[in-house]
Amino acid sequence: MKIICIARNYAAHAKELNNDIPENPVIFLKPDTAVIKDNKPFFLPEWSTKMDYETEIVYKIGKPGKYIDEKYAAEYISEITVGIDFTERALQGELKSKGLPWELSKSFDGSAVLGSFLKPSALKSYENIEFSMKKNDEEVQHAHSSEMIFPISHIISFVSQYFTLRTGDLIFSGTPQGVGTVSIGDQLTGYIEDKELFSFKIK
Ligand code: ZN
Repeated sequence: MKIICIARNYAAHAKELNNDIPENPVIFLKPDTAVIKDNKPFFLPEWSTKMDYETEIVYKIGKPGKYIDEKYAAEYISEITVGIDFTERALQGELKSKGLPWELSKSFDGSAVLGSFLKPSALKSYENIEFSMKKNDEEVQHAHSSEMIFPISHIISFVSQYFTLRTGDLIFSGTPQGVGTVSIGDQLTGYIEDKELFSFKIK
């Protein structure tokens, strides 16, 4: 199983980090050891100085495919949830300034938090999903997936030109604005519409 992540997929978030709007999806990968699920806690790594949450809609691939046409892409989505793409922003800044890959800052153990999955049929639309995240009792991110620069059908088609998609692969589709830092003791709770899909502690 591989985890494919999209960076800079919401204009307001690209702007808050002073990044340009990309011409094509910006892609990076996480290994399967990055996954945390079932509301298990996230342990801040010892080397971390600025750990940011990024709340994202996560799509699970339900059948293998390569060179997928955008108009059939929806058929490859088996389940949907909300998750966190943890990002060590200080380290990412260092790597970016040196022109190096981001993996150390984005693909470490525990960096891919998953909520409980929903069937696409449980949602009004797979392309316009309302989602939000609360840090402790305060809502810090709230968006609709229709605000994505590259919609999920485009992402599936684009990445499948490069990587064969397999059953169980996950796509983290990018974060909207409102990213911020976590500290030990924080509780993060994620929602699609009014359904709570994860709630876990930072330790
Ligand atoms: Zn992200």
